[in-house]
Amino acid sequence: MAKILIVEDNQLNLELSRDILTFNGHEVEHAEDCEACLSKVDAFMPDLILMDIGLPGISGVDCFKLLRQKSGFDKVPVLAFTASVMPDEIKKITDTGFSGLIEKPIRVSTFLSTINDALEVK
Ligand SMILES: [Mg+2]
Repeated sequence: MAKILIVEDNQLNLELSRDILTFNGHEVEHAEDCEACLSKVDAFMPDLILMDIGLPGISGVDCFKLLRQKSGFDKVPVLAFTASVMPDEIKKITDTGFSGLIEKPIRVSTFLSTINDALEVK
């Protein structure tokens, strides 16, 4: 079991990912944008963050950079959560330092294996 923060503004993506993770025994918190993410991490201390790239306001990529500047959050694994599979977008995500990428729409088996791999590396 791990503590996982889902940063996602889309209700359906949130509900589906939250249901899969809680069903598999994880403790899940939710943030609807970057500001909520940055304020929630201190109290929740997630083991893993699932970060939507297309967030309202501050993007997921910029939110990742802001998170890394926060004391205590320079190493927590962050997975990008995105519908984009364009090679330049994927390159930007990996170059930024994300631990991996989960494509939307979610495929349950890939989703869980990517989550578990990221938690093990940690
Ligand atoms: Mg979004």
